[in-house]
Amino acid sequence: MHNDQPSPDSTAADNLVARSLASVWHPCTQMQHHAQHGPDAMPLIPVSHGRGAWLYDTGGKRYLDGISSWWVNLFGHANPRINAALKDQLDRLEHAMLSGFTHEPVVTLSEQLAVLTGYALGHCFYASDGASAVEIALKMSFHAWRNAGQGDKQEFVCLRGSYHGETLGALAVTDVALFRDAYGPLLRAAHVTTSPDARGALDGESAADVARRAAADLEALLQQRSGRIAAVIVEPLVQCATGMAMHDPLYLKLVRELCDRHQVHMIADEIAVGCGRSGRFFACEHANVWPDFLCLSKGISGGYLPLSLVMTTDEVYQAFYHVDAARGFLHSHSYTGNPLACRAALATLAIFAEDRVLQRNTERAAAISAALAPLAGHPQVRHFRRQGMIWAFDAVVNDADAARTFSRRFFSAALQNELLLRPIGRTVYLMPPYVLDDGDIAHMAAATLRSFEQTMAEA
Ligand SMILES: *Cc1c(COP(=O)(O)O)cnc(C)c1O
Repeated sequence: MHNDQPSPDSTAADNLVARSLASVWHPCTQMQHHAQHGPDAMPLIPVSHGRGAWLYDTGGKRYLDGISSWWVNLFGHANPRINAALKDQLDRLEHAMLSGFTHEPVVTLSEQLAVLTGYALGHCFYASDGASAVEIALKMSFHAWRNAGQGDKQEFVCLRGSYHGETLGALAVTDVALFRDAYGPLLRAAHVTTSPDARGALDGESAADVARRAAADLEALLQQRSGRIAAVIVEPLVQCATGMAMHDPLYLKLVRELCDRHQVHMIADEIAVGCGRSGRFFACEHANVWPDFLCLSKGISGGYLPLSLVMTTDEVYQAFYHVDAARGFLHSHSYTGNPLACRAALATLAIFAEDRVLQRNTERAAAISAALAPLAGHPQVRHFRRQGMIWAFDAVVNDADAARTFSRRFFSAALQNELLLRPIGRTVYLMPPYVLDDGDIAHMAAATLRSFEQTMAEA
């Protein structure tokens, strides 16, 4: 317990929840579920503060943040080093427009990211959230082809189960029915091709075989729509939002080859899997390829501030470089390259380097996997899988009603066990910040197992 922790006050907590429900429209939520009781109920937690991997509510309860607050937090809440950098930046420059002006944090961040790609992707374009980065990559791809005299390349390809954000352009390359279907009539159709999800392996097939099969389908599509396709967009190694579908790195290598052969851009959406989540800093490094566009967000600011960016090649950059303004990329957002957000990102990159985070995560991941062994071998668990600092498994729930309510029931059970986990359908996943110590790991694993057994026992 910390001495600045407010004293437990359940009346104040209830009050905050009631005020929130009256005035805040919460994201990705059927608001009525917050008002219900029973298996459809979804508690709303009033958070008072965070420390390290833990969130504390206004009633004095604590929760280990097993999903890094929607995959954004890398080095814990209230991280002293990121806090110090932001306090320093706050007294220098909070914001200045990035059109016609520049500043130290955005320049240094762009340089450092370029170095991390060995200058393969040496040009950074900034926005604030992930969906905007996807919009930028799609627009840039189309416009680069247009500037190169190939304006017929207007179509995009995404994968079955893909997720690239909620704005209309990003949603058009998203294949998650729950998010997409209501807006179907508003969306420009994209080609949806076979996912290399390794769970789709037929008898005797390896993950690499599944990747080859998926790539063959992509090849057929690229041949069929020859000259029409601008870009293929992929979530490298893990399609997170559809339920942590993982694939063999071979797929990325094959996509890169196909894109080269058919003159199509490759867009790597590393918004969720970038920043060390896959085990390397960029997930594409597992396949030794660079895309034409790489989207980053979520973890890049350490989970502090909205920041996203698209990194691209000299070739794309040169396609826009001209005396004619209309050939430029005339896209902007008010907070593009915000200095505070960039400074948080620089502090995040500094922690990666100073603490040798990728190496230490290898050891941390081994400890977490060992602690989760009882779940990996559980008779009601299928497809226990891991990529870097992401663990996932699918619950075997046969009753339709129990399956429908599994996620919300598990979420509630986990909260009772001092753990924040929000399954996607029947897929339970863990995506913790890179700061768990042995005690946190033991707690996370035990609470996950207990929550799982409680949720399954209710069915
Ligand atoms: C979260 C996510 C996005 C969207 O990012 P937002 O900041 O929520 O707009 C896009 N792509 C992937 C792979 C994501 O995980």
